[in-house]
Amino acid sequence: MRNVIFCHCQQCRKQSGHYYAATSVEDARLYVTGEEHITWYAASAAAKRGFCRVCGSALFWKREASEVTSIMAGLFDSPTGLKGGYHIFTNEKGDYYTVADGLPCFSYSDD
Ligand SMILES: [Zn+2]
Repeated sequence: MRNVIFCHCQQCRKQSGHYYAATSVEDARLYVTGEEHITWYAASAAAKRGFCRVCGSALFWKREASEVTSIMAGLFDSPTGLKGGYHIFTNEKGDYYTVADGLPCFSYSDD
């Protein structure tokens, strides 16, 4: 799975209550059990968010027409084997915290 990307955009912050931390995987390699419990919310014309309608957990983010699904990093039990990659949309981050983990920061997304 991809390194974890931390998204500080306003939409991610408002939907999650802070910021998003997500890895991703190609759809062809994604296997989900309990798929019948997932609801997809059209967050915009370009992307949707998947959550569990039983427990409310945020699960996925997916750009329309993409063959990759982002998966919330917090879903995995430790040790996850995941590593932090970088921060995106830091220009939209909340004013109540600092990004100081030494990872690269960008004011945009490259996906
Ligand atoms: Zn975001």
